[in-house]
Amino acid sequence: MKAIVRLPLFFLCCTLVFSSCTTPRPPSTPEAQAPMSLIEATAQLAESRATRLPANYIWAALRDRGQDADINAAFERALADHTRESKLALLRVLELKFIHDPKTSGLDILGPELSQHFRGFKWHENDFPGGPEGPNEQFADVMVDALDLVLPERRANSTRDAVVLRAEATNAVWEYMTNKWVAVPGQERWKLNPHALESFVRMREAAKADGVDLIILSAHRYPQVAAANAARVGNPNAVASFSSHSLGLAIDFKMSHRDGFKVNEASTRPMSELVRMRESPVHKWLVLRAEEFGWYPYQNEPWHWEYNPRGFREIFWADFPGGAPMRGIMVDEP
Ligand SMILES: [Zn+2]
Repeated sequence: MKAIVRLPLFFLCCTLVFSSCTTPRPPSTPEAQAPMSLIEATAQLAESRATRLPANYIWAALRDRGQDADINAAFERALADHTRESKLALLRVLELKFIHDPKTSGLDILGPELSQHFRGFKWHENDFPGGPEGPNEQFADVMVDALDLVLPERRANSTRDAVVLRAEATNAVWEYMTNKWVAVPGQERWKLNPHALESFVRMREAAKADGVDLIILSAHRYPQVAAANAARVGNPNAVASFSSHSLGLAIDFKMSHRDGFKVNEASTRPMSELVRMRESPVHKWLVLRAEEFGWYPYQNEPWHWEYNPRGFREIFWADFPGGAPMRGIMVDEP
């Protein structure tokens, strides 16, 4: 029954996601031509993946640029220069505005209609998929599927993108992985795979320059501890025994932020809180920028991000005798 409900909704969402990306048409009065063509060109840059900002947000922010000195200045520079660099600089200013705007959400990458729908939906507290069953879990699934279309996951521990699959994790492999872990400078309690760590430190600096603090709530998880946790009742997603945390490739970030944004951290109930968490400046920064650093979301949990850039599997296994294990053709689970 669940699958029957879910499929048509999924396709409806696909249509909305892609239709909402269309750039609004500019008016054609002659005096409006120059700025309007720049607005259109900047929105087109967004569609060419120079940013994940939704085109409607760019359009509205540029239209109302008179209200924001930084946007106005970047706009005037772009208008004078008309280079790709100056337009990209303008996009960066708009991204900063979006990240620190309390009215925006990471869900806005779905476009205005879907974002409004999911943010305003009357969620039941148990609607997070897994754990106690809520009446609208299929809508939570649709939301996650839609987000995955716009900003795809690259799970480190499952699917064909996996760095390590459960079946590949022999005792020798566990030893190889956990021996490499390094403590995170500034948060020494937590360890990461050295490649993930190097990238995280650069990402943390970049976020800091944008006024965003990337603070780790949880990172490495020793396999024995993870297995014990999985045996306990609770959130089966967060405490799975074979998790990207046990590969040293995942971070749970603190979503509350110094500018007054507060949430119940890493909690899957109530569902409305989980949806509100996507308004966190930390989450929004990660949505827009994390992929540049090789970090990808786990769409069910706004706080959980995984390091798995393209080509990383070979690098991860480079020092293991024989290298990465051979894999047959994989079909991802639905
Ligand atoms: Zn996690």
